[in-house]
Amino acid sequence: MNIKRSIVLLLIASLSAACGETKPAAKADTPAAVVADITVSDAELAGNPFRKTWDTPYGVPPFAQISNSDYLPAVKKAVLEMRQDISSIITNPEPANFDNTIIALELAGESLNKVSYTFRNITGTDTDDELRTLETQIYPLLTREFDAIRLNPDLYQRVKAVYDARGTLDLGEQEARLLELTHRGFVRAGAAFAPEVKEKIAAINEQISELTTRFAQNLLLETKAFKLVLKTDEETAGLSDDFKAAIYDADQQAWVVGLNRSAYESFMVQSTNRKLREQLFNGYRLRATSGERDNGPVAIKIAQLRADRAALMGYPSHAHYVLEYNMAETPDGAEDFLLRVWRPGLAQAKQERADMQDMMGATQFAAWDWWHQAEKLRLQRYDLDESLTKPYFKLENVQQGAFAMANRLFGLSFAETDVVGWNPVTVSFDVKDRDGAHLGLFMTDMYARDSKRGGAWMSSYRGTSNIYGDRIRPLITNNMNLPQPPAGEPTLMRFSDVETLFHEFGHGLHGLMTQIDYPTFSGVDGPRDYTEFPAQILEHWVSQPEMLEMYATHYQTGKVIPAELVEKIRLAKNHNQGFYTTEYVAASLLDLAWHSLTSAEAAAITDARAFEKQVLEGYGLIPEIEPRYRSQYFSHIFAGGYSAGYYAYLWSEILDADGFDAFRQAEDIWDRELAGRLQRWIYEAGGLKPAGELYRNFRGQDPSIEPLLEGRGFPTDQD
Ligand SMILES: [Zn+2]
Repeated sequence: MNIKRSIVLLLIASLSAACGETKPAAKADTPAAVVADITVSDAELAGNPFRKTWDTPYGVPPFAQISNSDYLPAVKKAVLEMRQDISSIITNPEPANFDNTIIALELAGESLNKVSYTFRNITGTDTDDELRTLETQIYPLLTREFDAIRLNPDLYQRVKAVYDARGTLDLGEQEARLLELTHRGFVRAGAAFAPEVKEKIAAINEQISELTTRFAQNLLLETKAFKLVLKTDEETAGLSDDFKAAIYDADQQAWVVGLNRSAYESFMVQSTNRKLREQLFNGYRLRATSGERDNGPVAIKIAQLRADRAALMGYPSHAHYVLEYNMAETPDGAEDFLLRVWRPGLAQAKQERADMQDMMGATQFAAWDWWHQAEKLRLQRYDLDESLTKPYFKLENVQQGAFAMANRLFGLSFAETDVVGWNPVTVSFDVKDRDGAHLGLFMTDMYARDSKRGGAWMSSYRGTSNIYGDRIRPLITNNMNLPQPPAGEPTLMRFSDVETLFHEFGHGLHGLMTQIDYPTFSGVDGPRDYTEFPAQILEHWVSQPEMLEMYATHYQTGKVIPAELVEKIRLAKNHNQGFYTTEYVAASLLDLAWHSLTSAEAAAITDARAFEKQVLEGYGLIPEIEPRYRSQYFSHIFAGGYSAGYYAYLWSEILDADGFDAFRQAEDIWDRELAGRLQRWIYEAGGLKPAGELYRNFRGQDPSIEPLLEGRGFPTDQD
């Protein structure tokens, strides 16, 4: 069942949550081992698609046949079956061994995967009020179930018995790793603690599950609630024709800008109406900060519970607990690293601010001017207008470019199929390896809609497993929030969106290419500060001349993007880098601050904004820059799986910058030997070894931070 994976899925799933009733928090004295009675009748399950074999192509869910009302009964039934599986392991009269305990655990709860993967994905892409209510029922229920398993003393004794005998078992490499990770999962969940401690941990987990769902739901509703409705020329001043076309709402006969990040940034860059920029800026940053959907108290409570749980488990803070098996190892390790990038980033941001103030003359530069003035400065310095580059980045061409890259590097091929997806805009591809063997199905859903959560992400409808020769291959998705053009018009992408597409494609390949047999560590497995690496390294290929020739062709003329335009993109790439670095690192430091609190320190916090302000001012953040996420809409850490881990994107950049440097030194971005090691030790290897070891096997040495600093245009000679 790979509970570890399931917990991660729960966390990621809750990122996409929204409204509905939240159940009251569990009382602290709820006994851990006792899970609620679950009943589900045959009548409730009649015709339920999750109870049937799916004879669809590739075994994709039969989306058209699934109704919202199917999820809860299917989850309940699957949970009952999972209990049966676990009970069979515990009551097995044979002594515990690798097969009857570790493999049996890996196979337990199979029917739950089917329904939970689908539910998690659909609530992310096509949610509604009913699904939001279901989330508040299903996630706490699953949290309780997984806790009951991981804190079950009889089950732990069997796992421990196998683990203690590991020296005598003569296991294969993957089997030994599975045993190690399964045992570690139980220990880190608290299985080795006394019953009263385990009860407290379980009660905390349940409360956190409810609070994270509430956090995400508040945020989605608050995000949807804000609209800037533009009707006059004065209000749309500066906006490009294609942006206006993308945001036009025929019902309202007006242009409507919401808080979707892509639309937000486009407006902040383009609008010459300073008052409206200020309004949108405040709409964005003041979401969920007051009234009944104020996420401040929710964030405080989550941080307090996490600190309490860490204390129960013997760690100084939640961050100490989380980072134990990450590359950074400790909160100090993560903070030291962040500060090495923070200092030059902040210094550059101050210079950028001064340059823009110069441009504005007597008018006092303000936070809502940053995007707009930075764009003006960019045009002035590099003469690079997005409307000139976008025609070379048509969505379908960019997608084919990513496929061509995977073909040149790893020998993969992609063929479009007519699989019916969850939404009419999905497109599916059959993926084959160099020898023509099926690797998996790759499905894309690239457009924004109100029912979809923001951002871009990779996910899966089915993981990989190869136990007793079953060779189940994955169903992988990539999701973006590109504005959908009017019918018949092409989707032309901003360069940053092109990089995002390659990024998510990298996660996709990590899922698709895996050669790991056990779900517990197959696919995108690995510590947080490593798992962004396979995604981020591919962003380096995007702007290489050999690569651009393959995909960056004008959608009308078919001509390859001119070299001087590419050179301009390259030069302009680090423009405003002080700002980007500062807003990102500020959010990372804020995350570490929330999660490095001791239980007593957390208990003393009463005002989320005051805490945030004190932390960020302490690091010297300037008032014209907001952290990339303020606490009240920091879903990654309060509703997703990134608590004490938001720094991980930048840490992974050490690896991707240093990793791509190897190709640069080889003077060949298609270098066969490097590509082969990248394939074997990174994309195929999942969590086979500790991340540092996987990296060294690929690179032949430890990573160095210099390529990262150089890549951002910062000096590398600081102490
Ligand atoms: Zn990523």
